[in-house]
Amino acid sequence: MTSKKPDKNFIITIDGPSGAGKSTISKKVAARLNLSYIDTGAMYRCVAWAARKKGLDVTCENALPPLLRDIRISFQASGENNLVFCNEQEVTDLIRSPEIDRLASAVSSLSCVRNALLPLQRAAAQNSHAIIDGRDAGTVIFPRADLKIYLDADLTTRARRRLKEQKQNAEVDLKSVTEAIARRDEADSSRSQAPLRQAEDAIFIDTSKLSIEDVCQRIIDLFESRFNG
Ligand code: C5P
Repeated sequence: MTSKKPDKNFIITIDGPSGAGKSTISKKVAARLNLSYIDTGAMYRCVAWAARKKGLDVTCENALPPLLRDIRISFQASGENNLVFCNEQEVTDLIRSPEIDRLASAVSSLSCVRNALLPLQRAAAQNSHAIIDGRDAGTVIFPRADLKIYLDADLTTRARRRLKEQKQNAEVDLKSVTEAIARRDEADSSRSQAPLRQAEDAIFIDTSKLSIEDVCQRIIDLFESRFNG
């Protein structure tokens, strides 16, 4: 990659609903521009996974603070992959099950969880050029980000993509994945704290009919014109 990066640390935020392509695109763009990649959804998934492991009720705000005080979440880039560690255990694949999809969505509506993760999300991007992937990255985590992208796609396209990711799980089918995504969209958009919405200064890209490569290139072009142009 020949891009010359700006001298100051800069932040690209990529928000949007489940299955819009955020993590696939963010990982590829991060690898090509040599940026850190911070997957904030994986952080909610880690909280859900750790709570489940301890047998805690994820709908109960009082049950989680002790877990949140001690939780350690870190990322390790491995080519275009992003390994996720929670309390020193590698959980990259363990946090991608339909059960953790559901539990992560539940914990993400709790104030105690959002308040505990916000400083960790900001700290993870400290001292580096970074791409932050999430639902509220451009509105709450980094409202002054240098480049904000909002990705979306129609519901069926998003469900097909999620099904493909989860195809090793025999229990999932297109109908149940579509319903689960629609429920999560509703929960993400209607929660009182940090709901999913496009930041006013974010650039909208509908990925329904675009290839992964097209979307990556569009973001890289935006980066180039903004920082090297
Ligand atoms: O993006 P991903 O599907 O991995 O996110 C898991 C869950 O975490 C989502 O259901 C969403 O509700 C929540 N989330 C959030 N805020 C973020 C990132 C994810 O509420 N910044």
